[in-house]
Amino acid sequence: MDVEHVEHDIDRTQPLYTEEQIQARLAEMARQIEADYEGEDLLLVGVLKGAVMVMADLARALERHVEIDWMAVSSYAGTRSSGVVRILKDLDTSLEGRHVLIVEDIIDTGLTLSWLVANLKSRGPASVEVATLLRKPEALEMPVDVKYVGFDIPNAFVIGYGLDFNEKYRNLRSIGTLAEHVYS
Ligand code: 5GP
Ligand code: MG
Ligand code: MG
Repeated sequence: MDVEHVEHDIDRTQPLYTEEQIQARLAEMARQIEADYEGEDLLLVGVLKGAVMVMADLARALERHVEIDWMAVSSYAGTRSSGVVRILKDLDTSLEGRHVLIVEDIIDTGLTLSWLVANLKSRGPASVEVATLLRKPEALEMPVDVKYVGFDIPNAFVIGYGLDFNEKYRNLRSIGTLAEHVYS
């Protein structure tokens, strides 16, 4: 196999979510979101950079009007959560009276998210809910409710579909774990 190819670094022995599985699940989530927010305005807030792919596909799976805005926060270095959250880029939109749905790629410890939910709730929105494609076991113990979850996954470091390892692999169409040869 060509070592320049991004797919070369995926561990084929671990279960992956294929492009088709991801799209099918996002379509189901979109139908649920449409039903829950019927007759309400809706602002999707994406968390850069990981949520770029989820936002692009979830937003297009929705057949209703939405607005999209972005935040960039920093809480992660390498493969371990630092617990420190910094705003690198804030929203352009006022949240006053708005229904806000945070769109996330993955929730691991939930530290980033619980901080973010509290931060957005302090801006006077009508509601703040969360949609994430992936959720890890530890996140189940966090105090924040996550209304829409794509897949609950085991505690492994995953890459692809927006998720990076040292800024690479975001452009993989599927989600997987890294092969042994990448670490060694
Ligand atoms: P948390 O604050 O929930 O521990 O971490 C949230 C952020 O950490 C995610 O948005 C993501 O950027 C990063 N993260 C957590 N788990 C993983 C993982 O398995 N793979 C990758 N690539 N990033 C992760
Ligand atoms: Mg994220
Ligand atoms: Mg990252």
